[in-house]
Amino acid sequence: MSNGGPPGKRNWMCLTCGYVYDEAVGDPARGHPPGTRFEDLPLSWRCPDCGAGKEDFDLVVD
Ligand SMILES: [Zn+2]
Repeated sequence: MSNGGPPGKRNWMCLTCGYVYDEAVGDPARGHPPGTRFEDLPLSWRCPDCGAGKEDFDLVVD
């Protein structure tokens, strides 16, 4: 049973295009350093690949 891992090391997948936001990697290109939790990304953050909003991402569980 997995809840997806500890905060800061989870993966979130874009349901629209399959892009994975890895909290351990963050999104440095947009000013979000490694370890940035998904919930700490601003609401304005969007999928880098398809532009979907945060509501279109789901936590990846094993
Ligand atoms: Zn996407």
